[in-house]
Amino acid sequence: MKETLTEKKSRAKRIVSLLSKAYPAAKCSLHHKNPLQLLIATILSAQCTDARVNLVTPALFKRFKTAKDFAGASQSEMEKYVRSTGFYRNKAKNIRASCKLLVQKHNGSVPRTMEEMLELPGVARKTANIVLGNSYGVIEGVPVDTHAIRISHLLGWSKEKQQEKIERDLMALLPRKYWLKISDLFVHHGRAVCIARRPRCGECPISRLCLKVGIKNNLRMPGFSPMGAPFGGEPLGGYSEQLIPPRV
Ligand code: SF4
Repeated sequence: MKETLTEKKSRAKRIVSLLSKAYPAAKCSLHHKNPLQLLIATILSAQCTDARVNLVTPALFKRFKTAKDFAGASQSEMEKYVRSTGFYRNKAKNIRASCKLLVQKHNGSVPRTMEEMLELPGVARKTANIVLGNSYGVIEGVPVDTHAIRISHLLGWSKEKQQEKIERDLMALLPRKYWLKISDLFVHHGRAVCIARRPRCGECPISRLCLKVGIKNNLRMPGFSPMGAPFGGEPLGGYSEQLIPPRV
């Protein structure tokens, strides 16, 4: 039988609850002390691990403290600080340009609305959601990063490929109070258990609730038809890791 929307929502809530128990301390892992630092760290985290960003930011935040400091930096100096995070030319350019706009339009502060955040160079919805949610408690959507893309597909929560469409699916499935939380849970789960290309389903706390879309040996899972179609839905398609295009 095809899973109804109500069943899907109820499964989603149970998954959030189980993941919350598994990762009680799950929170944004980018080190920061204020909204500006989180904005910069999130721009740097595109196509880069949070651990790598956390190695780079102490020196960066020691050298540049305010939006005016970042805006006044030369391109070459900024590149030197952020080089090891990859795509460093564009990241340096975006940080400087964003901070110039913060100074010109927002008195050096990070704005509190999605609309204003999206005006900043190098900032798309993922970054805006992370900064607004963690810094101001403003929850406008779900931050969709590589873990969220991958695990949403495996769980059967979204079939979409574009981040914004996946975000829309997650927003429709989960109550707003979980929109930021699910992103942190996905990151922790994606690192610890549901690892890209080698998910450890045998030790996964949500294994019985996961459709494992695209995983070959899922044919005998409860809730799956002999053809491998979850809840009588369409036959399973292949799964391939999604790379988020560089946010430059
Ligand atoms: S059951 Fe497997 S595929 Fe599903 S979330 Fe857990 S580790 Fe990932």
